[in-house]
Amino acid sequence: MSNDGAVSIEKDTDSSQISQSFRDQKLIERFIRCSQLLKIIEGATELFIKRYRNSKKPEDALGALFVPLHLEYIHFIQNNANELLHQIIEEPLQFLNAAKYCVYGIVRDQIKLSGNTVESNALKSIDIDQLHIQLRFIGLPLQEDLHFAHNKNCWPPGLSWTTGILSAISEPQWAILQSTWFCSTGCNRNKIKSDSIDAPICNSCGQHMNEYAKLRVTEKYHFLRLLPTSCIENPRVVNKIFRALTVHCKEHVHDCELRLGTSYFIIGYYDYTRAGQIFQAWSVIIR
Ligand SMILES: [Zn+2]
Repeated sequence: MSNDGAVSIEKDTDSSQISQSFRDQKLIERFIRCSQLLKIIEGATELFIKRYRNSKKPEDALGALFVPLHLEYIHFIQNNANELLHQIIEEPLQFLNAAKYCVYGIVRDQIKLSGNTVESNALKSIDIDQLHIQLRFIGLPLQEDLHFAHNKNCWPPGLSWTTGILSAISEPQWAILQSTWFCSTGCNRNKIKSDSIDAPICNSCGQHMNEYAKLRVTEKYHFLRLLPTSCIENPRVVNKIFRALTVHCKEHVHDCELRLGTSYFIIGYYDYTRAGQIFQAWSVIIR
């Protein structure tokens, strides 16, 4: 096969991935528009626009826009969104990514509409890295094929549920969600980053940019260690070591207190993309 052939195959793969994720976004958008989620997205966007309009501080246009996206299993059934439900269970990360693009589209359109006024300094747009989806998923049925039980060697690859007793909890940790940068050489350029705090290079003059330290946005989380409930339900088992599961628990996935010795029910997925064998929680409730 010639090199040209290889190149065209690569392009085909790319375009099919793009159309797949575009299809996912359309499915998610339809689901959002026939639920309460649309109002929540519009409300959060409205608040962001208002805050900027009232403060008139240019840096408020670079702030973070948080959108709580609370999903319930039953709502997918009620809205005949079975295809989307399968996708969220089979590919939770891909779903989250598509959901972010979809919500961004809704937010962007709303900002554009609100900017069509006589105000000269109305908010024009925001960057996708300013948008932060706070996803929570509840109500996954207690099916055995969705049961994550690493002690029994059951490792469902997608969204799954698990239970356990909280045996250890880390000090609060802070993840950087967003950092905002400016060029001090007079280029008047800003850049928003979501992944790291290494100073980016200015596209215009090639110098390292400086961070607006007070605009840094962080998110609180804990690492939890969860022991299988069977280790106390069946205390007569001897000569057996129970392995604890490490859970990454962001602040927005739970309302309940996190107390040692309490038994929890957790929905999430085992994160194969990260080192350290971590279960990413999408909801944590007391069992
Ligand atoms: Zn510059």
